[in-house]
Amino acid sequence: MNLNDKLTAIVPRLSPVPGAGPLDANTVLQAHELPATISVRLNPHKPSAAFKEHTVVPWLPDTGRYLDHRPVFTLDPLFHSGAYYVQEASSMFVGQAFQHLVHRNAPLRVLDLCAAPGGKSTLLASLMQHDDLLIANEVIQPRAAILAENLTRWGQMNTWVSNNDPKDFARLNGYFDLILIDAPCTGSGLWRKDAEAINEWSVEHVKLCSERQKRIVADALPALKEGGILFYATCSYSAEENEDICDWLCDNLSLESLPVPVADSWHITATRSARHQAFGYRFYPWQLKGEGFFLAAFRKQTATTEAPRREKQKNKGQMQGKSKDETARWQAFLDHDFRAIERNGEYYGVASTHTADLELLQTMLRIRKTGTALGKIAGKDAIPDHELALSIHLSPAVARLPLGREEALLFLKKEEIRKDNPSKGWQVATYEGWGLGWGKWLPNRMNNYFPKNWRIRMDIK
Ligand code: SAM
Repeated sequence: MNLNDKLTAIVPRLSPVPGAGPLDANTVLQAHELPATISVRLNPHKPSAAFKEHTVVPWLPDTGRYLDHRPVFTLDPLFHSGAYYVQEASSMFVGQAFQHLVHRNAPLRVLDLCAAPGGKSTLLASLMQHDDLLIANEVIQPRAAILAENLTRWGQMNTWVSNNDPKDFARLNGYFDLILIDAPCTGSGLWRKDAEAINEWSVEHVKLCSERQKRIVADALPALKEGGILFYATCSYSAEENEDICDWLCDNLSLESLPVPVADSWHITATRSARHQAFGYRFYPWQLKGEGFFLAAFRKQTATTEAPRREKQKNKGQMQGKSKDETARWQAFLDHDFRAIERNGEYYGVASTHTADLELLQTMLRIRKTGTALGKIAGKDAIPDHELALSIHLSPAVARLPLGREEALLFLKKEEIRKDNPSKGWQVATYEGWGLGWGKWLPNRMNNYFPKNWRIRMDIK
């Protein structure tokens, strides 16, 4: 069976959607023939000229931009500096839901439970303020590493990465103001980008995903505070993974469904679940510029019984706060209010407002990125970490060496840069003002400290 035949067979098996009716195979097939739309989201903390004048994504006009063709992002140094993130347009709707439903009376604590590779985490991070805290979690370890890499590029100290199973969050009773669950799903909404999702689709797989989705939300929900907001999202067309889950959440977890404002001109399909009339928002590629996506928002009504307490038994290698002097040593690098924390000889910068969060969270979670990695001390020298070079808080006092595009690409390939440079020592190599990584300068060449496993492997000519 070829892919088109498979699609023709699958679409009639998708359950009809209340408010939207059954999907018709021809419409889905026609959308499948067209290329997927390409879009990026700009980093508001690293403004640049890149894509600024492109068509805006209507539900995220400040930072969402459509591209009319796919450039080779690997060959754009601004991509490596974190000036933008390549993200599918429909999923940027999380920003619209955040802006309308999340009210900020005090610093926010946000959990992105299924976060890798980090599209929605970087979006949430951009909408948060410096004293808010985002825990971006990913259960699969190698994917957690990619998530940490993308959040490092994004450059914020208030975004941490954990590598935990959803049930590990249950102990954090009532801790978070907002939880986003972008659940693993059958991925039917991504059919035109991912042929594998067509091959893997089956009624049994929908059922398996739906059971797992319920389990994931139920496991994490105790960590949401009373009155806190839950965003539930998938990239599936199946009602079993979307509206039916909303009904299940209203029945079993005392959640109140919330509407998200949408303009008619966006062509988003608003749906209601069969039993509770819960609000849902579907993105169909044949109606708008974006891939298949679903989002629903809820408020938690039940009270949490007990505030989370620090676990008595300490994990091995806990982070220790350092004296004011130790912090002062790293202060030359960052223009931000933070404390230096040390673990096994590595230093991390944690915003002063988040040190109590670290004390609690490190007893319960496997934290893979804590604030901003600062570096190590070797004798009298501070050896700066790569994360510092990408930080949005990098101090203006840190020496920088601006590179042109070709030099920047050589730097990103971890090649030697030969250039007359009057100053010696550590400098941040920059491209259009934003850090790419560290170099240590000798009179006429530079030792390139760009991380080996991040380097560009493709031909740059
Ligand atoms: N939110 C991400 C973004 O915007 O870039 C995409 C997340 S993807 C739809 C779902 C994620 O859930 C994957 O990274 C996957 O590894 C993770 N996942 C898979 N099984 C899981 C489980 N049982 N519990 C929690 N997360 C799981």
